[in-house]
Amino acid sequence: MTTVAAYAAPAAKAPLERTTIERRAVREFDVLIDIKFAGICHSDIHQVREGWGEAIFPMVPGHEIAGVVSEVGPGVTKYKVGDRVGVGCMVDSCRECDNCKAGLEQYCTGGGMVGTYNALDKDGEPTYGGYAQKIVVDENYVVRIPDGLSLDVAAPLLCAGITTYSPLKHWNAGPGKKVAVLGMGGLGHMAVKLAHALGAEVTVLSQSLRKQDDGLKLGADHYYATSDPKTFQELAGTFDLIVSTVSAPLDFGAFLSLLRTDGALINVGAPEEPISVNLFSLIAGRKTLAGSGIGGIQETQEMLDFCAEHGLGAEIELIAASEINEAYERVLNSDVRYRFVIDTATI
Ligand code: NAP
Ligand code: ZN
Ligand code: ZN
Repeated sequence: MTTVAAYAAPAAKAPLERTTIERRAVREFDVLIDIKFAGICHSDIHQVREGWGEAIFPMVPGHEIAGVVSEVGPGVTKYKVGDRVGVGCMVDSCRECDNCKAGLEQYCTGGGMVGTYNALDKDGEPTYGGYAQKIVVDENYVVRIPDGLSLDVAAPLLCAGITTYSPLKHWNAGPGKKVAVLGMGGLGHMAVKLAHALGAEVTVLSQSLRKQDDGLKLGADHYYATSDPKTFQELAGTFDLIVSTVSAPLDFGAFLSLLRTDGALINVGAPEEPISVNLFSLIAGRKTLAGSGIGGIQETQEMLDFCAEHGLGAEIELIAASEINEAYERVLNSDVRYRFVIDTATI
Protein backbone atom coordinates (compact mmCIF):
# COMPACT_ATOMS: atom_id res chain seq x y z
CA MET A 1 0.00 0.00 0.00
CA THR A 2 1.12 3.53 -0.72
CA THR A 3 -0.23 6.58 1.05
CA VAL A 4 -0.92 9.43 -1.35
CA ALA A 5 -2.24 12.97 -1.03
CA ALA A 6 -5.67 13.57 -2.50
CA TYR A 7 -8.65 15.91 -2.45
CA ALA A 8 -11.86 14.34 -1.20
CA ALA A 9 -15.41 15.21 -0.29
CA PRO A 10 -15.86 13.75 3.22
CA ALA A 11 -19.66 13.61 2.82
CA ALA A 12 -22.36 14.39 0.27
CA LYS A 13 -22.42 18.09 -0.72
CA ALA A 14 -19.47 18.86 1.59
CA PRO A 15 -16.60 20.94 0.18
CA LEU A 16 -13.59 18.98 -0.99
CA GLU A 17 -10.55 19.08 1.26
CA ARG A 18 -7.00 17.77 1.29
CA THR A 19 -6.58 14.29 2.75
CA THR A 20 -4.59 11.11 2.22
CA ILE A 21 -5.72 7.79 0.75
CA GLU A 22 -4.16 4.35 0.36
CA ARG A 23 -3.42 2.94 -3.07
CA ARG A 24 -3.06 -0.83 -3.38
CA ALA A 25 0.41 -2.32 -3.85
CA VAL A 26 1.24 -2.83 -7.55
CA ARG A 27 0.07 -6.30 -8.62
CA GLU A 28 1.20 -8.45 -11.55
CA PHE A 29 -0.69 -6.54 -14.26
CA ASP A 30 -0.87 -3.12 -12.58
CA VAL A 31 0.80 0.13 -13.42
CA LEU A 32 1.46 2.86 -10.88
CA ILE A 33 0.83 6.27 -12.42
CA ASP A 34 2.14 9.58 -11.12
CA ILE A 35 -0.87 11.75 -11.88
CA LYS A 36 0.10 15.11 -13.36
CA PHE A 37 -3.30 16.54 -14.32
CA ALA A 38 -6.92 15.73 -13.57
CA GLY A 39 -9.89 17.34 -15.34
CA ILE A 40 -13.07 18.38 -13.54
CA CYS A 41 -16.10 16.82 -15.23
CA HIS A 42 -19.66 17.86 -14.40
CA SER A 43 -20.20 14.19 -13.49
CA ASP A 44 -17.82 14.75 -10.54
CA ILE A 45 -20.19 17.41 -9.24
CA HIS A 46 -23.34 15.32 -9.79
CA GLN A 47 -21.75 12.52 -7.76
CA VAL A 48 -20.23 14.61 -4.96
CA ARG A 49 -23.70 16.09 -4.45
CA GLU A 50 -25.42 12.70 -4.70
CA GLY A 51 -27.46 14.05 -7.59
CA TRP A 52 -27.48 10.60 -9.21
CA GLY A 53 -28.31 8.77 -5.99
CA GLU A 54 -26.50 7.45 -2.97
CA ALA A 55 -22.72 7.64 -3.26
CA ILE A 56 -19.63 6.37 -1.45
CA PHE A 57 -17.76 8.75 0.89
CA PRO A 58 -15.14 9.93 1.36
CA MET A 59 -15.11 10.51 -2.41
CA VAL A 60 -12.02 11.38 -4.42
CA PRO A 61 -13.53 12.37 -7.77
CA GLY A 62 -11.66 12.60 -11.06
CA HIS A 63 -11.89 10.44 -14.18
CA GLU A 64 -9.89 12.56 -16.59
CA ILE A 65 -6.44 11.48 -15.56
CA ALA A 66 -3.15 12.14 -17.33
CA GLY A 67 0.21 11.13 -15.91
CA VAL A 68 3.41 9.17 -16.21
CA VAL A 69 4.05 5.51 -15.37
CA SER A 70 6.37 5.20 -12.38
CA GLU A 71 6.24 1.46 -11.67
CA VAL A 72 4.92 -1.63 -13.45
CA GLY A 73 3.98 -5.09 -12.20
CA PRO A 74 5.97 -8.11 -13.45
CA GLY A 75 3.27 -9.20 -15.93
CA VAL A 76 2.78 -5.79 -17.57
CA THR A 77 3.60 -5.79 -21.29
CA LYS A 78 1.95 -2.63 -22.65
CA TYR A 79 3.66 0.06 -20.58
CA LYS A 80 7.03 0.85 -19.07
CA VAL A 81 8.29 3.37 -16.56
CA GLY A 82 8.24 6.86 -18.09
CA ASP A 83 5.33 6.26 -20.49
CA ARG A 84 2.71 9.02 -20.75
CA VAL A 85 -0.68 7.52 -20.02
CA GLY A 86 -4.29 8.29 -19.26
CA VAL A 87 -7.15 6.77 -17.28
CA GLY A 88 -10.79 7.60 -17.89
CA CYS A 89 -14.08 6.66 -16.25
CA MET A 90 -13.42 2.96 -15.64
CA VAL A 91 -10.66 0.90 -14.09
CA ASP A 92 -12.04 -2.62 -14.61
CA SER A 93 -14.93 -4.69 -15.96
CA CYS A 94 -15.76 -8.41 -16.16
CA ARG A 95 -13.67 -8.91 -19.34
CA GLU A 96 -15.80 -11.92 -20.31
CA CYS A 97 -19.21 -10.69 -21.45
CA ASP A 98 -19.98 -9.99 -25.11
CA ASN A 99 -19.66 -6.26 -24.60
CA CYS A 100 -16.28 -6.51 -22.86
CA LYS A 101 -15.04 -8.78 -25.64
CA ALA A 102 -16.31 -6.33 -28.26
CA GLY A 103 -14.46 -3.38 -26.71
CA LEU A 104 -17.61 -1.96 -25.16
CA GLU A 105 -16.41 -2.37 -21.58
CA GLN A 106 -18.46 0.66 -20.55
CA TYR A 107 -21.58 -1.42 -21.19
CA CYS A 108 -20.27 -4.53 -19.39
CA THR A 109 -23.16 -6.88 -18.64
CA GLY A 110 -21.12 -9.04 -16.28
CA GLY A 111 -21.64 -6.84 -13.26
CA GLY A 112 -20.95 -3.51 -14.92
CA MET A 113 -17.79 -1.49 -15.36
CA VAL A 114 -15.87 -0.56 -12.22
CA GLY A 115 -15.94 3.22 -12.03
CA THR A 116 -12.68 5.06 -11.42
CA TYR A 117 -14.26 6.42 -8.24
CA ASN A 118 -17.53 6.11 -6.34
CA ALA A 119 -17.48 2.36 -7.01
CA LEU A 120 -16.30 -0.86 -5.39
CA ASP A 121 -13.56 -2.84 -7.11
CA LYS A 122 -13.57 -6.63 -7.48
CA ASP A 123 -12.15 -6.95 -3.94
CA GLY A 124 -15.00 -4.85 -2.58
CA GLU A 125 -12.70 -1.90 -1.89
CA PRO A 126 -13.85 1.63 -2.76
CA THR A 127 -12.17 3.17 -5.78
CA TYR A 128 -10.69 6.66 -5.59
CA GLY A 129 -10.26 8.91 -8.60
CA GLY A 130 -7.82 11.33 -10.12
CA TYR A 131 -7.78 14.28 -7.69
CA ALA A 132 -4.74 12.58 -6.18
CA GLN A 133 -1.01 12.30 -6.75
CA LYS A 134 -0.92 8.64 -7.78
CA ILE A 135 -3.21 5.84 -8.92
CA VAL A 136 -2.76 2.09 -9.46
CA VAL A 137 -4.65 0.64 -12.45
CA ASP A 138 -4.63 -2.64 -14.37
CA GLU A 139 -2.79 -2.07 -17.66
CA ASN A 140 -5.85 -3.10 -19.70
CA TYR A 141 -7.73 -0.02 -18.48
CA VAL A 142 -4.89 2.41 -19.21
CA VAL A 143 -4.40 4.22 -22.52
CA ARG A 144 -1.36 5.82 -24.08
CA ILE A 145 -1.21 9.59 -24.55
CA PRO A 146 0.49 10.24 -27.89
CA ASP A 147 3.64 12.41 -27.87
CA GLY A 148 1.94 15.18 -29.83
CA LEU A 149 -0.51 15.93 -26.99
CA SER A 150 0.58 17.70 -23.83
CA LEU A 151 -0.72 16.06 -20.69
CA ASP A 152 -2.72 19.04 -19.41
CA VAL A 153 -4.88 19.41 -22.52
CA ALA A 154 -5.05 15.64 -22.95
CA ALA A 155 -6.55 14.96 -19.52
CA PRO A 156 -10.11 16.09 -20.42
CA LEU A 157 -10.07 13.89 -23.50
CA LEU A 158 -10.32 10.86 -21.18
CA CYS A 159 -13.96 11.70 -20.53
CA ALA A 160 -15.12 14.80 -22.42
CA GLY A 161 -13.23 13.66 -25.53
CA ILE A 162 -14.31 10.04 -25.66
CA THR A 163 -17.90 10.73 -24.58
CA THR A 164 -18.43 12.96 -27.60
CA TYR A 165 -16.17 11.08 -30.06
CA SER A 166 -17.97 7.77 -29.54
CA PRO A 167 -21.49 8.89 -30.57
CA LEU A 168 -20.15 11.12 -33.35
CA LYS A 169 -18.44 8.05 -34.84
CA HIS A 170 -21.31 5.66 -34.13
CA TRP A 171 -23.86 7.95 -35.81
CA ASN A 172 -21.48 8.71 -38.70
CA ALA A 173 -20.80 12.41 -38.25
CA GLY A 174 -18.72 13.37 -41.26
CA PRO A 175 -18.74 15.17 -44.60
CA GLY A 176 -22.24 16.06 -45.79
CA LYS A 177 -23.72 15.72 -42.30
CA LYS A 178 -25.23 18.58 -40.31
CA VAL A 179 -24.38 18.13 -36.66
CA ALA A 180 -25.63 20.30 -33.81
CA VAL A 181 -23.91 20.40 -30.45
CA LEU A 182 -26.18 21.34 -27.62
CA GLY A 183 -24.32 23.04 -24.72
CA MET A 184 -20.86 24.62 -25.01
CA GLY A 185 -19.23 23.31 -21.85
CA GLY A 186 -16.55 20.70 -21.27
CA LEU A 187 -18.13 18.00 -23.42
CA GLY A 188 -19.72 20.45 -25.84
CA HIS A 189 -16.53 22.24 -26.84
CA MET A 190 -14.85 18.89 -27.53
CA ALA A 191 -17.86 17.80 -29.58
CA VAL A 192 -17.44 20.94 -31.69
CA LYS A 193 -13.74 20.28 -32.29
CA LEU A 194 -14.24 16.58 -33.01
CA ALA A 195 -17.28 16.95 -35.28
CA HIS A 196 -15.43 19.64 -37.25
CA ALA A 197 -12.33 17.44 -37.54
CA LEU A 198 -14.52 14.58 -38.75
CA GLY A 199 -15.72 16.84 -41.57
CA ALA A 200 -19.29 17.59 -40.47
CA GLU A 201 -21.01 20.98 -40.72
CA VAL A 202 -21.25 22.03 -37.09
CA THR A 203 -23.80 24.23 -35.34
CA VAL A 204 -23.64 25.14 -31.66
CA LEU A 205 -26.90 25.53 -29.77
CA SER A 206 -26.05 27.40 -26.59
CA GLN A 207 -28.24 29.21 -24.09
CA SER A 208 -26.82 32.56 -25.21
CA LEU A 209 -24.37 34.02 -27.74
CA ARG A 210 -21.84 34.72 -24.95
CA LYS A 211 -19.41 32.07 -26.18
CA GLN A 212 -20.06 32.54 -29.91
CA ASP A 213 -16.58 33.82 -30.82
CA ASP A 214 -14.97 30.84 -29.12
CA GLY A 215 -17.35 28.38 -30.74
CA LEU A 216 -16.60 29.68 -34.21
CA LYS A 217 -12.84 29.58 -33.51
CA LEU A 218 -13.05 25.99 -32.25
CA GLY A 219 -14.62 24.82 -35.50
CA ALA A 220 -18.34 25.61 -35.46
CA ASP A 221 -19.83 26.87 -38.73
CA HIS A 222 -22.92 28.37 -37.07
CA TYR A 223 -23.90 29.43 -33.56
CA TYR A 224 -27.41 30.00 -32.21
CA ALA A 225 -28.93 30.96 -28.86
CA THR A 226 -31.62 28.60 -27.61
CA SER A 227 -33.05 31.47 -25.52
CA ASP A 228 -34.18 33.04 -28.81
CA PRO A 229 -37.45 31.44 -30.04
CA LYS A 230 -36.51 32.38 -33.63
CA THR A 231 -33.73 29.77 -33.45
CA PHE A 232 -36.35 27.00 -33.36
CA GLN A 233 -38.27 28.43 -36.33
CA GLU A 234 -35.17 28.98 -38.41
CA LEU A 235 -33.57 25.60 -37.75
CA ALA A 236 -36.66 23.36 -37.85
CA GLY A 237 -35.94 20.10 -39.70
CA THR A 238 -32.23 20.88 -40.20
CA PHE A 239 -29.95 18.38 -38.47
CA ASP A 240 -28.90 14.82 -39.15
CA LEU A 241 -27.54 14.58 -35.66
CA ILE A 242 -27.84 16.54 -32.43
CA VAL A 243 -25.52 15.70 -29.53
CA SER A 244 -26.87 17.04 -26.26
CA THR A 245 -24.23 17.62 -23.60
CA VAL A 246 -26.58 19.52 -21.30
CA SER A 247 -26.39 18.69 -17.61
CA ALA A 248 -29.95 19.81 -16.81
CA PRO A 249 -33.37 18.56 -17.98
CA LEU A 250 -34.41 20.00 -21.34
CA ASP A 251 -37.49 20.30 -23.51
CA PHE A 252 -36.48 17.44 -25.79
CA GLY A 253 -39.56 17.92 -27.95
CA ALA A 254 -38.28 21.33 -29.01
CA PHE A 255 -34.89 19.93 -29.98
CA LEU A 256 -36.35 16.89 -31.76
CA SER A 257 -38.18 19.37 -34.02
CA LEU A 258 -34.77 20.51 -35.28
CA LEU A 259 -33.98 17.06 -36.70
CA ARG A 260 -34.65 16.18 -40.31
CA THR A 261 -36.45 12.92 -41.15
CA ASP A 262 -34.44 9.97 -39.81
CA GLY A 263 -32.32 12.30 -37.72
CA ALA A 264 -31.07 11.34 -34.27
CA LEU A 265 -30.74 13.22 -31.01
CA ILE A 266 -28.05 11.60 -28.91
CA ASN A 267 -28.07 12.48 -25.27
CA VAL A 268 -24.81 12.30 -23.38
CA GLY A 269 -25.76 14.82 -20.70
CA ALA A 270 -26.79 13.15 -17.47
CA PRO A 271 -29.35 15.37 -15.68
CA GLU A 272 -30.40 14.46 -12.19
CA GLU A 273 -34.12 14.41 -12.93
CA PRO A 274 -36.14 12.34 -15.43
CA ILE A 275 -37.51 14.01 -18.54
CA SER A 276 -40.79 13.70 -20.34
CA VAL A 277 -41.07 13.41 -24.12
CA ASN A 278 -44.17 13.49 -26.28
CA LEU A 279 -43.60 10.47 -28.53
CA PHE A 280 -45.28 12.18 -31.47
CA SER A 281 -42.08 14.21 -31.77
CA LEU A 282 -40.36 10.92 -32.69
CA ILE A 283 -43.16 9.40 -34.76
CA ALA A 284 -43.41 12.40 -37.05
CA GLY A 285 -40.22 12.03 -39.08
CA ARG A 286 -39.06 8.59 -37.89
CA LYS A 287 -36.64 10.20 -35.45
CA THR A 288 -34.33 8.60 -32.94
CA LEU A 289 -33.71 9.66 -29.35
CA ALA A 290 -30.71 7.75 -27.98
CA GLY A 291 -28.10 7.87 -25.26
CA SER A 292 -24.41 7.10 -25.22
CA GLY A 293 -21.95 6.46 -22.39
CA ILE A 294 -18.23 7.28 -22.58
CA GLY A 295 -16.48 4.78 -24.90
CA GLY A 296 -14.53 1.54 -24.71
CA ILE A 297 -10.81 1.29 -24.02
CA GLN A 298 -9.82 0.65 -27.62
CA GLU A 299 -12.02 3.47 -28.86
CA THR A 300 -10.52 5.79 -26.23
CA GLN A 301 -7.07 5.03 -27.64
CA GLU A 302 -8.38 5.62 -31.17
CA MET A 303 -9.81 8.98 -30.05
CA LEU A 304 -6.49 10.04 -28.48
CA ASP A 305 -4.61 9.09 -31.65
CA PHE A 306 -7.18 11.00 -33.73
CA CYS A 307 -6.77 14.07 -31.49
CA ALA A 308 -2.97 13.93 -31.76
CA GLU A 309 -3.18 13.60 -35.53
CA HIS A 310 -5.52 16.61 -35.77
CA GLY A 311 -3.81 18.68 -33.07
CA LEU A 312 -6.87 18.65 -30.82
CA GLY A 313 -6.65 19.13 -27.08
CA ALA A 314 -9.16 20.58 -24.66
CA GLU A 315 -9.36 24.32 -23.96
CA ILE A 316 -8.42 24.39 -20.31
CA GLU A 317 -8.15 26.60 -17.27
CA LEU A 318 -5.42 25.16 -15.08
CA ILE A 319 -6.13 25.46 -11.36
CA ALA A 320 -4.52 24.58 -8.04
CA ALA A 321 -6.23 21.92 -5.94
CA SER A 322 -7.24 24.59 -3.41
CA GLU A 323 -9.47 26.11 -6.12
CA ILE A 324 -11.58 22.98 -6.74
CA ASN A 325 -14.62 24.09 -4.74
CA GLU A 326 -14.68 27.47 -6.48
CA ALA A 327 -14.32 25.73 -9.85
CA TYR A 328 -17.34 23.54 -9.04
CA GLU A 329 -19.46 26.65 -8.49
CA ARG A 330 -18.30 28.09 -11.78
CA VAL A 331 -19.12 24.87 -13.66
CA LEU A 332 -22.61 24.94 -12.12
CA ASN A 333 -23.00 28.50 -13.44
CA SER A 334 -21.91 27.50 -16.99
CA ASP A 335 -18.87 29.71 -16.36
CA VAL A 336 -16.10 27.47 -17.62
CA ARG A 337 -13.96 27.92 -20.74
CA TYR A 338 -13.99 25.05 -21.23
CA ARG A 339 -12.55 22.59 -18.75
CA PHE A 340 -10.97 23.11 -15.36
CA VAL A 341 -7.87 20.96 -14.97
CA ILE A 342 -6.18 20.45 -11.61
CA ASP A 343 -2.40 20.63 -11.47
CA THR A 344 -1.97 17.71 -9.09
CA ALA A 345 1.44 18.96 -7.98
CA THR A 346 -0.54 21.46 -5.87
CA ILE A 347 -2.41 18.80 -3.87
P1 NAP B 1 -20.48 21.48 -18.34
O1 NAP B 1 -19.08 21.80 -18.66
O2 NAP B 1 -21.13 22.09 -17.17
O3 NAP B 1 -21.34 21.77 -19.68
C1 NAP B 1 -22.73 21.64 -19.71
C2 NAP B 1 -23.30 22.74 -20.61
O4 NAP B 1 -24.69 22.55 -20.67
C3 NAP B 1 -23.10 24.13 -20.08
O5 NAP B 1 -21.88 24.69 -20.44
C4 NAP B 1 -24.26 24.87 -20.71
O6 NAP B 1 -23.90 25.21 -22.05
C5 NAP B 1 -25.34 23.81 -20.82
N1 NAP B 1 -26.32 23.95 -19.74
C6 NAP B 1 -26.11 23.89 -18.40
N2 NAP B 1 -27.27 24.06 -17.73
C7 NAP B 1 -28.22 24.25 -18.66
C8 NAP B 1 -29.62 24.47 -18.60
N3 NAP B 1 -30.27 24.55 -17.43
N4 NAP B 1 -30.29 24.60 -19.76
C9 NAP B 1 -29.66 24.52 -20.94
N5 NAP B 1 -28.32 24.31 -21.06
C10 NAP B 1 -27.63 24.18 -19.93
O7 NAP B 1 -20.65 19.91 -18.14
P2 NAP B 1 -19.86 18.69 -18.84
O8 NAP B 1 -18.72 18.30 -17.97
O9 NAP B 1 -19.64 19.02 -20.25
O10 NAP B 1 -20.94 17.55 -18.69
C11 NAP B 1 -22.21 17.69 -19.30
C12 NAP B 1 -23.15 16.57 -18.87
O11 NAP B 1 -22.68 15.35 -19.44
C13 NAP B 1 -23.20 16.34 -17.37
O12 NAP B 1 -24.54 16.02 -16.99
C14 NAP B 1 -22.30 15.14 -17.17
O13 NAP B 1 -22.61 14.40 -16.01
C15 NAP B 1 -22.62 14.36 -18.42
N6 NAP B 1 -21.61 13.37 -18.81
C16 NAP B 1 -22.07 12.21 -19.38
C17 NAP B 1 -21.17 11.28 -19.83
C18 NAP B 1 -21.63 10.05 -20.51
O14 NAP B 1 -20.89 9.06 -20.58
N7 NAP B 1 -22.82 10.06 -21.09
C19 NAP B 1 -19.78 11.52 -19.68
C20 NAP B 1 -19.36 12.72 -19.13
C21 NAP B 1 -20.29 13.66 -18.70
P3 NAP B 1 -24.21 26.67 -22.65
O15 NAP B 1 -23.64 27.64 -21.68
O16 NAP B 1 -23.53 26.64 -23.97
O17 NAP B 1 -25.69 26.76 -22.78
ZN1 ZN C 1 -16.81 12.72 -17.06
ZN1 ZN D 1 -18.16 -7.42 -19.14
